[in-house]
Amino acid sequence: MKKTRRSGNRRNSLKANSRKSPSGTRFAEAATRLAEIGKGFHARGWVLGTSGNFSAVISREPLRLAITSTGLDKGSLALEQFLEMDEAANVVRGEGRPSAEALLHLAIVRGVDAGAVLHTHSVWSTVLSGSHASQGGIALEGYEMLKGLEGVGTHKHREWLPILENSQDMVELGDRVSKTLRASPGIHGFLLREHGLYTWGAGLQQAKRHVEILEFLMEVLVRSGAAQSA
Ligand SMILES: [Zn+2]
Repeated sequence: MKKTRRSGNRRNSLKANSRKSPSGTRFAEAATRLAEIGKGFHARGWVLGTSGNFSAVISREPLRLAITSTGLDKGSLALEQFLEMDEAANVVRGEGRPSAEALLHLAIVRGVDAGAVLHTHSVWSTVLSGSHASQGGIALEGYEMLKGLEGVGTHKHREWLPILENSQDMVELGDRVSKTLRASPGIHGFLLREHGLYTWGAGLQQAKRHVEILEFLMEVLVRSGAAQSA
């Protein structure tokens, strides 16, 4: 009850601030949902210490994303801390700088036509992306939870989670992300080595579900020891 009332008030005040512009309303709604997702992911330990970043497409033509700004605690995001950015990562609404990884969000939105992109730094993705880097990725197969990935109808599905070498050069890394998405059509996410998970969805609900499924499966692999024999 409390949560609904609070988020309702925030949404209403942002609507008022946006002077009823449709894009302002879409931005405020996306930011509200991204803040709620951040709170949940932080509680799970997936975005500690200002790590991680989230975005949602609020317009396709022209391309506009609501995205977290850099260096913030993802467990307590305020709506004024979100930015709207264009297709070249320029800020067109809000104060602050987008995450350095904004270019990766754009590469994913373009590459797979995603409506939302979520990035986490969990213990499990950090461990697995290090231990499996030499294999270029991790195969997830045989798990019932795979059916939570969009388009997957059986536990027999083999999900390939590519691992890309980490980098601080986001232009170069963005190019490698685009190449990976072209080379592996149908994937639901990828890992950056000893860094974290990127996943996406047609909308925020689907992207959130994909984080939950992939984080669950990575935790299973590490805790069960299955990853060591993979
Ligand atoms: Zn990151």
